[in-house]
Amino acid sequence: MKGKKRKQLKITAPQTEAGGMAAVLSAAKHIFTEAGLVSGTRTLLRVNQFNGYDCPGCAWPDPDEGRSVVEFCENGAKAVAEEATLARCDEHFFARHRVADMRNWSDYEIGKSGRITRPFIYRQGTDCYEPVEWDEAFGLISKTLRNLASPDEAVFYTSGRTSNEAAFLYQLFVRMYGTNNLPDCSNMCHESSGVALSETVGIGKGSVKLEDFYCTELIIIMGQNPGSNHPRMLSALERAKKNGARIITINPLPEAGLMAFRHPQHLSGLAGKATPITDLWLQVKVNEDVALLKALLKILLQMDERRSGTVLDHDFIQSKTTGFDALCADLQRYTIDELIARTGIPAEKVYEAATWIAEKKKIIVCWAMGLTQHKNAVDNIRELTNLLLLKGSIGKPGAGTCPVRGHSNVQGDRTMGIWENPRPEFLDSLKRVFKFEPPRKPGYNTTAAIAAMAAGKVKVFFAMGGNFLSAAPDTHFTARALEQCLLTVHVSTKLNRSHLYTGKTGLILPCLGRTELDVQASGVQFVTVENSTGVVHQSRGGKKPASPYLLSEPKIVAELAKATLDSTSLNWDELVSNYDNIRNLIAQTIPGFDHYNERVRKPGGFYLPNAVREGMFSTTENKAHFTLNALPDYQLAPDEFLLMTIRSHDQYNTTIYGLHDRYRGVHNGRYVVFVNPTDMERLGLKPEQPVDLVSCYDGVIRRARRFRVVPYNIPQQNIAAYFPEANPVVPHNHAANKSHTPISKSVIVKLENPVA
Ligand code: SF4
Repeated sequence: MKGKKRKQLKITAPQTEAGGMAAVLSAAKHIFTEAGLVSGTRTLLRVNQFNGYDCPGCAWPDPDEGRSVVEFCENGAKAVAEEATLARCDEHFFARHRVADMRNWSDYEIGKSGRITRPFIYRQGTDCYEPVEWDEAFGLISKTLRNLASPDEAVFYTSGRTSNEAAFLYQLFVRMYGTNNLPDCSNMCHESSGVALSETVGIGKGSVKLEDFYCTELIIIMGQNPGSNHPRMLSALERAKKNGARIITINPLPEAGLMAFRHPQHLSGLAGKATPITDLWLQVKVNEDVALLKALLKILLQMDERRSGTVLDHDFIQSKTTGFDALCADLQRYTIDELIARTGIPAEKVYEAATWIAEKKKIIVCWAMGLTQHKNAVDNIRELTNLLLLKGSIGKPGAGTCPVRGHSNVQGDRTMGIWENPRPEFLDSLKRVFKFEPPRKPGYNTTAAIAAMAAGKVKVFFAMGGNFLSAAPDTHFTARALEQCLLTVHVSTKLNRSHLYTGKTGLILPCLGRTELDVQASGVQFVTVENSTGVVHQSRGGKKPASPYLLSEPKIVAELAKATLDSTSLNWDELVSNYDNIRNLIAQTIPGFDHYNERVRKPGGFYLPNAVREGMFSTTENKAHFTLNALPDYQLAPDEFLLMTIRSHDQYNTTIYGLHDRYRGVHNGRYVVFVNPTDMERLGLKPEQPVDLVSCYDGVIRRARRFRVVPYNIPQQNIAAYFPEANPVVPHNHAANKSHTPISKSVIVKLENPVA
């Protein structure tokens, strides 16, 4: 890939619909280019099938019944193509490319280097990766871990693609080793949702099922762009619309997938008229969701008074909640006009939305990073929960909360115990089943781990999957923090930027991908994952592995544990010889997994218990809590902007599939910043003019270089740019209250002339 001539950046008009033939052609281009026609087709036809493998893309649920033969979206096909690529990152590749040179490559170019074929080691001063045998690698890791002054000098990160079986063994090994330093990608995405929902309704997960979309009356989509990040959700929205539901979208950006959808598997979608998705778009200013929600709550309370208590669900409020009076009193502190003024939305639109909400009983609220990555993110989600509680729209069909998870098993990993701050009952369960005293002191979350590495408190960084450096905030600071370590280790399928900023020694341990056959002593294995709606189901790879040297994630953990831990009662070889053994231990340790091996073999798997779904709230009073939430407190100078980092349509988290964000009209490039035309005029900025993004927190200047200005329909003094390119200006030490999620969706920046 490297060395291919870069095409000129091209900006075209944004699109107003998603899907259609363009999606089919794009999916085909990616899979056939990367994996070839025959192998590519065969691999794609197993995605999300009952006896196939789970899409390595997002965590949108699959239908319980009636799956189509093409049960994937355009970006699912791209995710599979990335893994099924025929390109190889082997000893010849590393002989040709020095680490220092590859640092100047874009994340796209690095990612196109192909599948890593064997373990590689980087030794300080060599500027290159060399082959290393597995045993030597495990020996080196275990020696380094055992020589640390404390297990807390090591951090064990997890990316949300790790299977339940690997995640369970991993947390068990790490806790037997003696630390809770188990940060994960959830810390950077839906941690705020977990904290807010646990506080208000007693479980950190969403309450709706896929089928609730088909019987709901109103769907409110906040801070989410499903057209690119959860594309099959558009099929569910289209069906909800056909069943009479209305959709309100709350988003600073006009996203094509939320305007209209052409279902690529329906003739009507390919040739006929696109299905309109959003009925009412509220173009809220960045991070003014709490102001909007408070305005809606106040209007609903007024309507309820005028309509003698027929708007709110008073029976539900009375019997199932606490804190209603305090909420009403707190709302008196604001006027509707001042709240609406903060949002930037015309008042009549806010009143129209309130009227729709007032008339409906079955309401689903969906959200993603647009709500979770702010200083006040937890308040954002607590406030939307207040809205659902006022309407009693939770714990019944067609109603409830729907935080749409990013990574395909990020929810499963948390369920398996991948958490730096586990609940005491989980640790008690580990003690009961495995007869050891697990560490009780909370560990480092992601932002704390970065600070600890930078301060030299952490000497070993181990990552189970992911691309920590590109996913994390404060890129340059985080890179230096990683380089402080004695040893950095990455279990990966493909090369990424994190591999290029190592400790004194760096190791890459290549693992099997989701699509690949996993054979252990007892034969072919399957793993399990949990999607956004709490369904635990199989994922069974079938493809010949990209290299004979690859090991499965569970096998890598088992070898690591055997090499590092003094005698444990566990027979790690036996555990990975047949993953049923791991699942039996999970069933003994974690509630809701009884008869795990039988139930997960049923087509589609099983739903984990979810009390809220049944209308029950596992809080101290067994009632849902209304909460009081603050308006975000920030001031912008005239030349300052609130930056939100976003994904393009050709990207999944830090994996860059291509350089085309066709829905937003950006082609052949990613260094762009979307700016309101009035702001451009006010600051004398021209289209495609190069600028630097510059933030200043605690007197520390952070700069992201050379972005091209793109005039765009975004609220004034709000701008947007892609991550990871914009992550250098996101401070690692300014995170969300309580959840510590990076503030990637509302960073105060200036646009400055580029410096050399
Ligand atoms: S919606 Fe998500 S899980 Fe489904 S195919 Fe697309 S990327 Fe994969």
